Amino acid sequence: MVDTASIIIASISMVGAIIAALFTGYITYAAEEHKRRREIKAEVRKYSRPLLLTTNDLQNQLWKLIETPITKFDQEERNGKENLEYFTCYLLAQFLAWKNILKVNTQFLAFYEDESSSDLRVILSKIEDELSTSRYDRSGWNFRLWPGHQLAIAENMVVLEKETGQLRPMGWHQFKDDFENKFGIYFGYFQTSITEMLDAKKKQTHGVPDQRLRRLQHFLVDLMDTLDPDKKLFQSDPLAERKCRPASRCDCRGRDCKGRGEELAKERSNRSRSCFAKEAPTIGRGEKSHSPAGNRSDSRRYSEV
Ligand SMILES: [Zn+2]
Repeated sequence: MVDTASIIIASISMVGAIIAALFTGYITYAAEEHKRRREIKAEVRKYSRPLLLTTNDLQNQLWKLIETPITKFDQEERNGKENLEYFTCYLLAQFLAWKNILKVNTQFLAFYEDESSSDLRVILSKIEDELSTSRYDRSGWNFRLWPGHQLAIAENMVVLEKETGQLRPMGWHQFKDDFENKFGIYFGYFQTSITEMLDAKKKQTHGVPDQRLRRLQHFLVDLMDTLDPDKKLFQSDPLAERKCRPASRCDCRGRDCKGRGEELAKERSNRSRSCFAKEAPTIGRGEKSHSPAGNRSDSRRYSEV
């Protein structure tokens, strides 16, 4: 009788201990999860601003390339050529670098689910797809940048600031110095596309090969709207919301493009299902991803400035 009572008491104690251990484990897990979400949220806030500024610079440059008349002098004179070709490449490289820094520092927003992060993922996915897809006809071939080249450009752009231990894109002068060694090979086709587009514009030929660039400019403006929905940063700047004339097909959010992009959106969604939206955060092949607090160890691979 005594033995049975002891066994029952021991069993109850054991069950109690297991429940207490499970509860403690759950509390610890929930606290860590909460902390991680808070850290990722802080990282999103921290990198959204430079990404927004960079996006504005790039969309503005693309608008000028697409919509303003470019003279032969602009195209052939050294400074003009530098502004049209190399500076455009620089602004795009800068954008890709900030996008990549945001991506790896937030584990690609993988564990931070709310409406704004979901919108951000969707629009970044569209931009990456727009730059890389080969599924366009002749008018949309130009300006293609393969996903691997986008990543290579982003990685080559990022430098580690010695004083602050922060990652950031390199400056314009350094980009120019490093162009041939680090970027020329990746930007070759993009640069050629700029020349071809401007030549076609100048000759006023039918079907200027600028369709991809037009869509890209629209998506960049959409990205700005996602990053700064209240227009706090560019309140008094009408150029920040200015979209170029639409491409024949465009699935951006603009009213002018309504009805132009249903098929395109469907194709894009099929493509993205298997890649960008669900992609695990990576820095490069075979390397570990950054954790929000993990910049310092991983950042040893970047050049110091
Ligand atoms: Zn559009």
